[in-house]
Formats: sequence, C-alpha cells, structure tokens
Amino acid sequence: MEVRVRYAPSPTGLQHIGGVRTALFNYFFARANGGKFLLRIEDTDRERYSDESLEDLYSTLEWLGIKWDEGPIVGGSCGPYVQSERTELYREYARKLVETGHAYYCYCTSERLEQLREKQKVEKKEFGYDRKCRDLSEEEQQKLRDQGIRPVIRLKIPLDGYTEYEDFLLGKMKKKNTDVNPDPILLKSDGFPTYHLANVIDDHFMGITHILRAQEWIPSIPLHVILYKAFGWEPPVYCHLPMVMGSDGQKLSKRHGSTSVRDFRAKGYLPEAILNYVSLIGWSYDDSREFFTREELERLFTLDKLNKAPGVFDYKKLDWFNGQYIRKKSDDELMALLIPYLEKAGTVSTPMTEAETAVLKAAVPLAKERLKYLSDIPEVIGFLFKAPENYCREDLIPKKLDQTKTLEILDVLSGMLDKFITMSEEEIEPVLRDKCAELGVKLGDFLMVLRVAVTGTRISPPIVGSIKLLGAEETERRIKNTINLLKSGDK
Ligand code: GLU
Ligand code: ZN
Repeated sequence: MEVRVRYAPSPTGLQHIGGVRTALFNYFFARANGGKFLLRIEDTDRERYSDESLEDLYSTLEWLGIKWDEGPIVGGSCGPYVQSERTELYREYARKLVETGHAYYCYCTSERLEQLREKQKVEKKEFGYDRKCRDLSEEEQQKLRDQGIRPVIRLKIPLDGYTEYEDFLLGKMKKKNTDVNPDPILLKSDGFPTYHLANVIDDHFMGITHILRAQEWIPSIPLHVILYKAFGWEPPVYCHLPMVMGSDGQKLSKRHGSTSVRDFRAKGYLPEAILNYVSLIGWSYDDSREFFTREELERLFTLDKLNKAPGVFDYKKLDWFNGQYIRKKSDDELMALLIPYLEKAGTVSTPMTEAETAVLKAAVPLAKERLKYLSDIPEVIGFLFKAPENYCREDLIPKKLDQTKTLEILDVLSGMLDKFITMSEEEIEPVLRDKCAELGVKLGDFLMVLRVAVTGTRISPPIVGSIKLLGAEETERRIKNTINLLKSGDK
C-alpha cells in the first residue's frame, strides 16, 4: 500500500518550530517510503484565519526546500485541498450520519448552553452537553425548525463500553465512552464543520495512511475513532510525535525565545541548520550522528527511530549548527547571502558599488569564522567600509594599562604598519612579540589596542588579515585619529 501522509496546518499564526517539525517528519516519511506528501489547509476557523499565516506557511516550506506532491497550488486527484472549499462535502456526510442514526440535530440555543455551563460550574462538574436533543421526535424537531432555529449536528458518543485505539509510538490505549466529550458538534449552525469532522472526512477521502502530528491531539483520538466507526471507515495509523520542550522542561513557547521560523530566518539562520536541528528533536538516526542534509533525511527517516520521551529545543545547539553550516558554504554562496544584511544595515550601498563588492569578496573568508548568524555581518566587517567615528575608552585602554601606555602602543604601531602588509601572520608574530617585550605589555593587550583603534570594536575578524584588507594608509589614518581623540580627552 502506498504511504500517504499530510501536513494539515490551520493558518491562524506563523509557522513555528513544532509545526515545521511535523511537516518535516511527514515529508521525510513519505519520501523514505516512496509515498506521497500532501498539504492540506484547515481553514474552517474563519475567525482566526489570516492571509498572512497562509503566505508564511508557503514561504517557510519553500525556504526549507519542502515540496508537496498534492495540495494547494499544485493540485492533485483528491482536491480541493483547502477545507473552506470543501464544505459541501462535510455537510453531506454530516447529514448521512444523521440518517444512519450516528448523529442528531441539536436545537439548543447559546443561552441554554450558557445556563447549562453555569449550572455545571456550581456543581463543580466539567462542562459537557447534556444530550437534551439526542432523542427528539420528528414532530418535536419540526416544531423547533418552524421557530426558525438552525440546528447544529452532534455525534452520538456511545453511552457505554470502551473505545480502543493504538498509537505507533505510545501503544494500545482505551477510553471509557462515558469519559469522551458527550456528543461533540460536527457541523455548526452556519453549515461549517468543526475540526473533527473535516479532519476525519479529509483524511479518509485523501487516502491518508499515517497520521503524524503533535501529541496535543491525542485526546481527540477516541472521538475520531468513533467517527470513523460511524462512517464505517478504517482509521489510519496514528503516530503522535514527542513533545517539543524548552530547556526548563516546559512546553516550548515564546517564553523561551523566538519560536517562529520567520524570526529565525530574519536573524540569519540557514535553512539547512533549521532543517537539520529540528529533525533531531525527538528523533535520532543513531546515538552519534548529527549532520544530515535534507536529501539524506529523505532516505534515512524511519518512525522506529522516534523517541518516546519529549525532545528539548536547545537554542545554543541550533546556533552551533548554524555556525557549522555557515562555514560549510562556499565563499561565493555566503557572499550572496550576506549582501541583503549589509544593504539593510546601510553598511554598503544598494546596489553595491564595484569597490564595495571587491572589499566584501576579500572579507568573506575572514568573516566566515566569526559569524554565528548572517545578521552579524554588519557588525563584524562594517569597519572595512566605514572608519569608526568613535570608540569606547574602556574597550581601547587595556585594564592593567593607562592612557599614556596606550598612546605609546599606538605610536609604535603607526611606525610599523607596512610590516602588517608585507609580512604573513606567522612572520609578523615574533616581530610583534619583540615590540611587546620592549614596551613591557602583553601581546593580547597590544593587539586589542590595535583592533579597537582600527575597527572600533573588540569583535572583528583576525586583525592582521583585516589590516591587509584596509591597507597601510587607511590604517595609519585611523590610528592617528585615535591618538588625537585620546589626547583631546574625547570619548
Ligand atoms: N489543523 C490541525 C492543526 O493545526 C491539524 C491537526 C492534525 O494534524 O490532525 O494542528
Ligand atoms: Zn440540544
């Protein structure tokens, strides 16, 4: 049997880490089994729907390189793949359930349900519909219809017995039917389906074989299984994915930091890093291997490597992956990725001039080692395009030294700048060490004074390489400027 799986988001917010992991696992599972990956838009909650979320969904999947075999835009034989375009089907099947005695019309007004809720609150009971309309006669119903009341359709949950079900990861489970939400609404009075009805009908008619989704949907399984039975259909295989937690063991949320992929993207995470790291939350190939490309996961992903225990989303680990993937890029690829960040920060002109392009091209290999995110780039190499106007005194003057000593260092430096151009890093080191011995300062302090004078910050690419890029003349100008600023007491 062909594997058919789906990602079925509701476009009510930005794509976040948990959702993207669900999409990836479905996609990899389909690919690894030569099956089909479907995208379905569950947009029946019209109040929470937004166009922006839908656009964010498409652009996130595209950015990650995830293509769907059937779904919106690409079409397919089970379409439409947008639930709001399928409402006629849901109505027809809800009515069928009424005809076969598995569902019924409920005419209760919202006022009555509100009163019921209040009463149950006083009695300290959990809210549940009291099944008032479950056995109304045809005449009683006609009377209510004549009053103009538009009914909802509710599912008849069996009044006794158990519903048994199985999850691939969590095993067999069973629930008393009396513990299932009494008679949930399938079709609202406006003719729109609820999540449960639309989800079950679509999974059936789209031929879904496996449901891989977040564990928050586990409580819905008994209800869905009862629905499948009522229709006389076979439920798919369920596999609820391990939870995604923050480092404190709580469910990952905004409290822990950004969770939307759009934020990560803006900050300059690479799609390869997100895809790789997110795939390791709750899944592992073996105990040691960490690096996977999308193509590799398309071959290697299996459900039996899912962990039962929740996965932890570790921002530091993701940063580490991002740095690794930045360093894996060729200089040209990385340069193309960095340009928008430099343009946006105004570090270079838009479009870049030829001279700027040349500087950037030379700087990329140096900067590569220093970047954690692409968005770091203006800070790391901005000094190559613009001389620092100022510097911070605490950065410039080493802790154990004073202004006089710092001026001495700057003086010595300005007299030997040609050496930074003509000598290699290895060659110049002993020369610098000698100078430091003469001055009685540490090499680290000596180089930090140079770094801050020339770049304005303590973080910048390797300083010898940076000076080679800047040239002796420009470096000299900056050192002189720093000396003047220091002497004039300016900060
Ligand atoms: N629309 C649901 C969601 O947003 C889908 C849940 C499911 O996969 O059944 O998560
Ligand atoms: Zn009712």
